[in-house]
Amino acid sequence: MHVSLFFLSRGVFVQSYKQYINGKWVNSSSKKTFTSKNPANPKDVLGIFQEGSSSDVALAVAAAQKAFAQWREIPAPRRGDILLRVATLLRAEKKKLGALVTREMGKQYIEGLADIQEAIDVAEYMGSEGRRFFGSTTPSELPQKFCMTVRRPLGVVGLITPWNFPIAIPAWKIMAALICGNTCVLKPSSDTPLCALTYVQLLEKAGIPQGVVNVVTGDGSVVGDALVAHPHVRAISFTGSKDVGAHVLAHAGIKKVGLELGGKNAIIIMDDADLPLAVEGVLWGAFGTTGQRCTAASRVIVHKKVQKQFEHLLLKQVRGLQAGDGMRCNFGPLVNQAALEKTEKYVAIGLQEGATLLFGGKRISNKQGYFHEPTLFTRVHPSMRIAQEEIFGPVLSILTCTDLADAICIANNIEYGLSSALYTQNIRNAFLAIEHLDAGITYINSSTIGAEVHLPFGGVKKTGNGTREAGILGIDEFSEVKTVYIDYSGKLQKAQIDTFVQK
Ligand code: NAD
Repeated sequence: MHVSLFFLSRGVFVQSYKQYINGKWVNSSSKKTFTSKNPANPKDVLGIFQEGSSSDVALAVAAAQKAFAQWREIPAPRRGDILLRVATLLRAEKKKLGALVTREMGKQYIEGLADIQEAIDVAEYMGSEGRRFFGSTTPSELPQKFCMTVRRPLGVVGLITPWNFPIAIPAWKIMAALICGNTCVLKPSSDTPLCALTYVQLLEKAGIPQGVVNVVTGDGSVVGDALVAHPHVRAISFTGSKDVGAHVLAHAGIKKVGLELGGKNAIIIMDDADLPLAVEGVLWGAFGTTGQRCTAASRVIVHKKVQKQFEHLLLKQVRGLQAGDGMRCNFGPLVNQAALEKTEKYVAIGLQEGATLLFGGKRISNKQGYFHEPTLFTRVHPSMRIAQEEIFGPVLSILTCTDLADAICIANNIEYGLSSALYTQNIRNAFLAIEHLDAGITYINSSTIGAEVHLPFGGVKKTGNGTREAGILGIDEFSEVKTVYIDYSGKLQKAQIDTFVQK
């Protein structure tokens, strides 16, 4: 990666990073830059990055278009070999990269390592997919005619990613796009540019040819908009908030668009649940990544018979969370000042709405970073804003239910539909929940988080527009199907006409 030292302030030098276009590390035409900071200690500046322009996007798309002609000709199993090399390189650098994730976006180190493991898993999964990449065959309605489908790449795809899985989410998109034969332009979050650039440097090392993967860093409303509007970009794969996702969809024109948006995920705890197990799941789901996961559990719907006991056990666990730098503590900061303020705003809203504050509720002011206490609200009514809107911070709302039907009704009464979970010992209730919870993912006796790369990932309602990432359906997002008919009868056969059976 091409870097140079840059004088930041008295006695402080940081590295200045370039963008990656057509296999070269280049400055932006805007001549503007921005910084990325450690959210646990904003005085720790990770580097200076290029504020990309629409001209940079045009150059990156042109490079990707040129590279597409060659990349699509490489047989899918050979493309897969390169992806498998990516997995090997990631594995060798897992600790270093995990620490980088923690430093740039704040999650605790074991989760930083998990980010890298997910990138390894998806490289191996998609790399192996190069040897499948299945179409289908089916009999024709006519004799001596063969029918099949084959998969084709889309062309240049634009990938827009958030900061909360700063290596895993770009990896999910890039690996799926490449195995299908596409070339791409990545626009990573401006909160985590170094993670994205470091990952792409590793792709370069693995032998991905120039122009196949390009990165333009910078503002969403400049770089993102230019990518979405570009006429030679055939598809956009976007992961981020609902409002920006809606904006992307409105401006993409006739492009294929994949949207993976927000969530307001619920864990239901029935009166027959293994309560200590459920409490562990709630703690992990609500406060892992400091609540900044699209699949975070931000609501618990607990049976009123066990509510008191549940709250007692949960409080004990929450008190054990240790806020601080993710390299040493198990509860990291929010990603930036705006996220901290948003969390504070929702705590104030919860209090105004009449919810009872059970724990936390304040920013942690004796630390340098963007820290907020893990926060529990109880006596939350399902219609309250803290039970309806995505906070994306460490705030958990506890609601009560009388039975499973009531719980499912509360769980479904929101605009999102990403993840959901039920704790019960009752198999009948488990299957009823699987059938009736409006969500793309349902966990039984496990928390709302913990997706594996070989299964499809995505949500219903305003969490997305129906696409799924990862697993075999991740291939659908980045390929299109051609239908092929081969007639070897030697005569003109007419479908729907020749097949008519004369009586
Ligand atoms: P965000 O919507 O603010 O930004 C996401 C990306 O979009 C960033 O790269 C940003 O720069 C870019 N962007 C901003 N304005 C744009 C525009 N006008 N045109 C094109 N791109 C633009 O989201 P965020 O704060 O980075 O991430 C948090 C959100 O992402 C949460 O809502 C979370 O639920 C969601 N998320 C969803 C999933 C999922 O798979 N469903 C996974 C992770 C995060």
